[in-house]
Amino acid sequence: MHKHKTKFIFVTGGVASSLGKGIISASLARLLLSRGYRTTIQKLDPYINIDPGTLNPYEHGECYVTEDGAETDLDLGHYERFTNIPTSQANNVTTGRIYLSVIEKERRGDYLGHTVQVIPHVTDEIKRRVRLLAEGDKFDVIITEIGGTVGDIESLPYVEAVRQLTWEMGEDVMVIHLTYVPYLAAAGELKTKPTQHSVKTMLEQGLQPDVIVCRTEHPLSKGVRAKVALFCNVQPECVIESQDARSIYEVPLLMQKEGLDKQVLKILKLPYGGRPNLTKWRSFLRKLEHPHSEIQVALVGKYVELKDAYKSILESFLQAGAVNQCKVKVKMVHSEHLDKDNVEAQLGDCKAILVAPGFGKRGIEGKLAAIEYARTKNVPFLGICLGMQMCVIEFARNVLGWKTANSTEMDPKTKYPVIHIMDEQKNVKNMGGTMRLGAYPCALEKESLLYKVYGKKDISERHRHRYEFNNDYIADFEAAGMKMAGINHGTNAEGKGLIRVEAVELPSHPFFVGVQFHPEYKSTVENPHPLFVAFVRAAMDYAGIHHPDETAKK
Ligand code: GLN
Repeated sequence: MHKHKTKFIFVTGGVASSLGKGIISASLARLLLSRGYRTTIQKLDPYINIDPGTLNPYEHGECYVTEDGAETDLDLGHYERFTNIPTSQANNVTTGRIYLSVIEKERRGDYLGHTVQVIPHVTDEIKRRVRLLAEGDKFDVIITEIGGTVGDIESLPYVEAVRQLTWEMGEDVMVIHLTYVPYLAAAGELKTKPTQHSVKTMLEQGLQPDVIVCRTEHPLSKGVRAKVALFCNVQPECVIESQDARSIYEVPLLMQKEGLDKQVLKILKLPYGGRPNLTKWRSFLRKLEHPHSEIQVALVGKYVELKDAYKSILESFLQAGAVNQCKVKVKMVHSEHLDKDNVEAQLGDCKAILVAPGFGKRGIEGKLAAIEYARTKNVPFLGICLGMQMCVIEFARNVLGWKTANSTEMDPKTKYPVIHIMDEQKNVKNMGGTMRLGAYPCALEKESLLYKVYGKKDISERHRHRYEFNNDYIADFEAAGMKMAGINHGTNAEGKGLIRVEAVELPSHPFFVGVQFHPEYKSTVENPHPLFVAFVRAAMDYAGIHHPDETAKK
């Protein structure tokens, strides 16, 4: 491709939160990538936490983990699912991180003699973090999503930093503003005033959007578009309609239809002829929208009221369902409401059971009941992280007969600590960013189901935990029929070799897999995760559903 300077697109939000800036940003990235532009997305979050790692899922939904071990906003998951390109630490920056570096610089003496202020020091640090991604000429376009809504006190330094970058880099920078155009049923009209006010607020802060994307439940008429254009000072073709879509994966196609990619390229003075190549994307959507069969699976966890808490798992199921041309309905089952007596009633209509990751005691007895049910009734089972640890405990209690077996996370004094804290975690005092995080290699056992599923021995998956399988018990478990199917060969703090159990299986069961890692973080539209694809297929087998001929993507 013709060489251009790196271009920067900023995406701001107005009128209301939760309008889907992440999906719009990810969709635009998809379109630009499909036209051959090397594109990445970054999210700037205006809260003071250094990262969302210490936030409760009730507050912030799922915590997404990158290859390099950053605990990030769940929007980064969308970025990866849409672009199929791994993100990193640099792709999620919070106000906390910005302030931390400014204050560390101040202590080092980098500003010696000067008063340290929001402007210029904080805004300079924001600008540095944005420009950092442009180093090394890896990208043609960098999309930066600003969290929150303009007009919020905490967004001010970000909007100011964008204003300065616009002034400094001129036509290499553009701004997309996402707003909401409500429909007043009583008046039978779409209302543009909130959008006008939101753009006025931006203008007061010195920033003029180039494109306005309007979230709406009804189509925007020509008149409405003209009104937004006139009062918000943009070209009419730069008013983009974003109607509610059947699925988030439809949004790139809707945005292309509206000409978002074309307008963006025009504004950035990049070639925009032709159309993006979306063949693969369309074929995925076709399969998603025309399933041959339908199954229900259970997701057992303690945050079931809140779908965002298990975002990546739900998206992985959806993608794996598309591969198998089977609509996967996920029944969210609250682990706290589950026990031995009602487990059949609650899970009997599910063709597979996934026990979710998690922390702490709440709901674990319900998880154990679900696992015992899956194990004894031959229902396909997948345990992720805490879910894997729980299947080890269930096996210890009910197969090995160690009734008090537990994880030392739940019972520090248990006689059978089959799951225990990792050595290097013993002296960890700070909670933020100190878990075993990010990608680690894992060697799969040749004679395992996982080896068949992945089609190779050496894999790499992402982690987020402090506890692990206690190696003292490996022989007991193997003798009783639980296979150590995946091992990480690492070294301890003194550099001595050690092994870590990363995956367990029950060869006597049609599909019983527990993984210490999180496969859900790596499932994308282009590469649905083989473990989820195989799990859905096992559920279809269990349900006696004949699946389409095409073999699952390995
Ligand atoms: N609480 C468990 C641990 O820290 C599992 C964590 C998880 O499920 N992500 O090891």
